[in-house]
Amino acid sequence: MLKIDSRKLSIITLIYIYIPIVIFLCGFCAWYVWLVTLAACGFSFYRIFKRYRSEDLNPEGGAITVSWQILTVGFAFIVIMCLIMGFWDVFEQSGDWSKHNAVLHDLVEHSWPVVYTSHEKALLTYYLGQYMLPALFGKVFGNGDVILGFNISHLVMSCWALIGLCIAYVNLINVTKSDRLKKQIRCLLIMFFYSGPLAVCQIIANGIFEDDMYSLGSHHWLLVKGFMLQYRSDFVMLRWTYPQVLVIWLICMLFLQYRKDMKYYVLMFAPVLLYGAFSIPFLAVAAVAFVIYEFIKSNEKISIVKEVFSVENIICFLTLGITLITYFYGYITVEKPEALRFHVHDINAESIAIILIFDLCMFGIYAICMFMDYKKDILFHCCIVFLTILPFFSMGLYNDLVMGASIPALFFMMFYVIKRFNTGSDRKYYGFTSGIITMCLLIGACYPAFEIRDIVRYKFIADDPSKVGIEDFFGTLETYTDRESDESVDLIYNYFTYEPDQKFFYKYLSGDKKETKEETLNYNRVSGLYFDTYVDIKVYESISKEVLDSVLNECGRYERIFSRTLEGSELYAINNRENDLKEDEFYTAEISEDMYNVLVYALRISEESGKGFNPALGAVTELWDFRGDSDQVPEKNVIDEALTHTNIEDVELFSREVDGNIEYFIKIHDDKLKLDLGGIAKGYIGNCLRDRLKEYGCKSAIISLGGNIICIGNKNGKDFVIGVQKPFEKEGVREFGLNVTDTCVVTSGTYERYFEKDGQLYHHILDPNTGYPVMNGVMSVTVVCPDSMKADALSTALLSMGEDEARTYIKGQSDVYAIFLMEDGSRFDIWG
Ligand code: ADP
Ligand code: MG
Repeated sequence: MLKIDSRKLSIITLIYIYIPIVIFLCGFCAWYVWLVTLAACGFSFYRIFKRYRSEDLNPEGGAITVSWQILTVGFAFIVIMCLIMGFWDVFEQSGDWSKHNAVLHDLVEHSWPVVYTSHEKALLTYYLGQYMLPALFGKVFGNGDVILGFNISHLVMSCWALIGLCIAYVNLINVTKSDRLKKQIRCLLIMFFYSGPLAVCQIIANGIFEDDMYSLGSHHWLLVKGFMLQYRSDFVMLRWTYPQVLVIWLICMLFLQYRKDMKYYVLMFAPVLLYGAFSIPFLAVAAVAFVIYEFIKSNEKISIVKEVFSVENIICFLTLGITLITYFYGYITVEKPEALRFHVHDINAESIAIILIFDLCMFGIYAICMFMDYKKDILFHCCIVFLTILPFFSMGLYNDLVMGASIPALFFMMFYVIKRFNTGSDRKYYGFTSGIITMCLLIGACYPAFEIRDIVRYKFIADDPSKVGIEDFFGTLETYTDRESDESVDLIYNYFTYEPDQKFFYKYLSGDKKETKEETLNYNRVSGLYFDTYVDIKVYESISKEVLDSVLNECGRYERIFSRTLEGSELYAINNRENDLKEDEFYTAEISEDMYNVLVYALRISEESGKGFNPALGAVTELWDFRGDSDQVPEKNVIDEALTHTNIEDVELFSREVDGNIEYFIKIHDDKLKLDLGGIAKGYIGNCLRDRLKEYGCKSAIISLGGNIICIGNKNGKDFVIGVQKPFEKEGVREFGLNVTDTCVVTSGTYERYFEKDGQLYHHILDPNTGYPVMNGVMSVTVVCPDSMKADALSTALLSMGEDEARTYIKGQSDVYAIFLMEDGSRFDIWG
């Protein structure tokens, strides 16, 4: 027989939780940070230890004795479970193991803190708790051999988790007061198989909504009417995401025993950040509710305040708390795609019905049956309220929020179930409700049981079991640091703090910073705002900062040539020319070579496109304001008047040679004609910037000028992936991606600049015949063509021409590929 001393067990539990924290602090943080933090935590530990020595440390619940037999049986059972869950790589490792393995691998391979530099500079930010000690072993004993180091760390990780699960089991026996063999075995089974009756939930919901029969038979989900909800069974939770579960359970059990010791709250809860941050909302709610409850109940209110604002809490928060919060802060604040962000479901009859069915089955039935037993327990009520409301929110590609945030609350529900069986009662209906609970537990246990069956079957019956295992997942997170690649967004956004140099943690708290010298990065980047557009140049090889800056500065020069609105620009001077010419005189002026080149091409495209594209439309475009917020639709007669001054035949270009130099001239036969090169100038500038970069020997780069993308070569041997904006969606949401090398992709869309008035959409591409925005069913045109000026002019021209004319026109252009998105949602592609 072994007598479990609750106090000793708690100390062991705390040590288990804190070893990885210490490794993280020493490995990831600057010396002054870990020194101060360890001193603060050490002080609190010392206080706890002193109380332990003086036997003043009093957890709720007394001593329990367990036999060696049950400990052996329990250990063997947990070992088997660990094997089935994928530890030691004996049985199939679930999909999430690829992430566990990759995190572990990178921790072993890279120096700490792990910072990736091969694509975008990114700090590895993840719930590293369970990986720290194994990774340290791998680093130390792998002797620089990454494969060996990884295998060692994988072994240690498995053993470390096994130890953790054993500690959890003994703790569970202790907090549930399972003092008999029968109770201890029941405790063990429930610890692994606890679940709500998922099958009942799926049958009811799918029956009523006759929607998505897909979720029937799934071990995790309720999938119905677009809802993706999961309150997982313990086994499934452990198998997929044990690093975010195990220690949270331990902390929950410490909370159950020491919730009256408020002065250690921070010490108890801060580690949650490094293990599974999704658990914080519930634990915070529970802790705050408990403090308020005690405060109201207590006669010595001051002493409660003193406990909460104890020295221990304050110094632990200022050190460990702040360090971990700032570590995650940069990661949380990275701008994420819509699909990963936080959402609240619409509240309507259907959503309420679905969520209530889910709530009722997955925990409600237990809560109802146990209500009378725990109606005075504030924590019990917190669980009910939290679990009821949680499914109304979602976050992450697979709604990880509902899964992750429910972990502690579901654990407490399980605890209540076990405790209720253990204590028994002669309350009315106790037998009846116990029967219902047992039945639900049995139905709920089917799913983990089925999952186990599948895993075992796969191991022994699958055609080629060797396909399963570490070899498959021996990856790294490195490639996912490229936000422009077309990897799944959850991989790209779930592990990194991008641009860490600007983040507090990396700037001030982290240790051993990676050199950020431009040369060490695989790409160099400059950006700026020109012609009302964000210009961004990225070069994927080493190039000097001066060269890059000089290329970017060219944009300023072009702006002073082509801007229609910038006073003093060349175009401005032409458009605002003196108009006191006599009857037979024409305005004539010398122009720059750049202006000449663009105009020649613009006039050509204009003729070819049957005047769908018109660079002389300035008199009309200036009547419209699509940038400001004036939302004025010009008078029809004003437009009609202006239209009479848009004839390109009135624009004449010529050049002459003087002393070996060529001079360029423009002659305009109409006093009121104005040029607008908005649909072509950026394309020309794109060509120029590309040529400049190439002159400097650049072979791999991407230039972005608003909707104009110019690629030089490819990126690290792979195509560039260019995302094309989904019309009228938030910026950055893609309609589709294009894989391209050494070419340009230009998109013109009615959604780029527009305003709405009286239910009518007015956008910035005008029909040269009417002077009003074109309305031909085309919503956007994307042109792929090696010549960026051509691509730009065509994107505008094709949009203005409409589908039929565009088709005939493109047929003769062998270097053009165009994609049309129509207002009715359809898409068609045309190759020249
Ligand atoms: P953006 O400049 O927003 O990337 P575009 O390349 O499609 O978009 O150019 C649109 C600009 O072209 C308008 O803002 C306007 O200045 C000019 N424009 C509008 N309609 C025409 C047209 N039919 N022909 C030539 N230029 C036009
Ligand atoms: Mg254009």
